[in-house]
Amino acid sequence: MEAVESHIERESVNAEWALKVVSDRLLDVYAKIKDDYLRERGSDVEDVVERLLFALSGERTERPQLMEDTVIVAEELLPSTVAELDFGRIRAIATDSGGWTSHTAIIARGLGIPAVVGLRDFYRQARTGDEIIVDAGRGEIVLHPTVRSAHGYRSAHGRKHELSTAFVPVEAQASAHEPLVTVDGVEIILRANLELPPEYAGIDRFGARGVGLFRTEFMLSQRDSMPLEEEQYQAYLKVAQLGGADGAILRLFDLGGDKGAPAGFEPERNPALGLRGIRFCLRHEELFRTQVRAVLRAGAQARVSAVVPMVSDVTDMRRARALFDEERARLTADKVSVGRVRLGAMIEVPAAVMLAAELAREVDFLSLGTNDLVQYLLAVDRDNDQVSDWFRSLHPAVLQSVRKTISAAVAAAIPIVVCGEMAASPAYALILIGLGARELSMSAASIPRVRRMVKGIDELTAAAIADDCLKQATADDVEELVRVRLGSHWPELFPPKSLPAARAKAAAVVAHIGGEV
Ligand code: PEP
Ligand code: MG
Repeated sequence: MEAVESHIERESVNAEWALKVVSDRLLDVYAKIKDDYLRERGSDVEDVVERLLFALSGERTERPQLMEDTVIVAEELLPSTVAELDFGRIRAIATDSGGWTSHTAIIARGLGIPAVVGLRDFYRQARTGDEIIVDAGRGEIVLHPTVRSAHGYRSAHGRKHELSTAFVPVEAQASAHEPLVTVDGVEIILRANLELPPEYAGIDRFGARGVGLFRTEFMLSQRDSMPLEEEQYQAYLKVAQLGGADGAILRLFDLGGDKGAPAGFEPERNPALGLRGIRFCLRHEELFRTQVRAVLRAGAQARVSAVVPMVSDVTDMRRARALFDEERARLTADKVSVGRVRLGAMIEVPAAVMLAAELAREVDFLSLGTNDLVQYLLAVDRDNDQVSDWFRSLHPAVLQSVRKTISAAVAAAIPIVVCGEMAASPAYALILIGLGARELSMSAASIPRVRRMVKGIDELTAAAIADDCLKQATADDVEELVRVRLGSHWPELFPPKSLPAARAKAAAVVAHIGGEV
């Protein structure tokens, strides 16, 4: 950069020309290097120069053309980039950064793409064209596999593929649409989390009871401008209709945080604690009103609920509700049909847990977002692989918060749905049920394994285990207790390696512990 800048200043040439002169000089140096490996790095310089020239041209970025059977290896993969990838060609994802509740991992899980995240220093070791095995089950990567290990993985994958294509649909046809009860007769409802259209087919296929969380902000990931009211209305109606009689819970734009600000808005220094969720919506009121109108209109045609993200105060809910009331009145005056839209609060900030009883009195339902709850409660960035050892879903403070929130909903006689990634992992889901959860929402592809777990357990034992978990002082103690108790009560459901372990190992393993991707 310095060389380019000084060339511009010295020669009074434009940026593109200065870049060309400097990069040619650099490439000359690379071309003379004797070592093959180092010499080839010149292609990296060419790649960067090409991108810079493209950016300087002011043209829009084209989506990269992927080859068949591509494994995406990246230092960091933003959710917006994942959303733009060609899912037909991607076989797996491996990233240096991230944790198991990063949105990149969440989307991969939703699409059934194996992903290992939090590898820390893998990106530099891999080259385009390398052969790679991504074992999301174990949270491991094999670079340049031997013929023997490639063969072993191929046949294992073949068996798994047979299972996923032959076994799951049969099970889906036979019982996926029947009510789901534990051995002692407690009904558990499993709903689907949705981000992108390729996931929609999973609702019917895996027998989800409606859409428990539609992350509406992902509508913005493949575009530069905000979607108009009509486009949003069509999208919400479609999602709610997919949910059938159970409809859909539409999460109002949760912009900011790791999902970033939409084009044209200022990036922030600390987005997780910044203008995220309802704060962004209230600051950009017109944008929020457009969404509210689209939601209310969809509510006239299908069963629609709306949930407000990042609530930290009852006032957030009151302000959101006031905007709903104003837009409802406006649409009604214009003779546009609107529906009864139930309004809920997402509980994902510690303040909302402490005020859960007050919030429960103001809303129609609660939605427990355990991903952010763990992040904010334990002060651990869910996307930062450096602190993934501190991201402990079974931390006693997390379990106490879950219990307090569920109790507040029960006391107010309103429903509560748990929609964070904990709900998708059988061991964690069991503890959630023991803590009183009756509605869980997860990526549709995770439903069959959670359903199998629910059918095999009794709620009484789950509640006793959860009670004992609440008495522990550390996350290690809870994980140990869970491992021993689940393994001894239901060994066929929880073979030892499937259970959470005290995590002293690399972050890559965390993706596995949280439930395989
Ligand atoms: C959560 O925080 O648990 C949640 C469900 O929302 P998201 O993962 O989109 O932040
Ligand atoms: Mg959240």
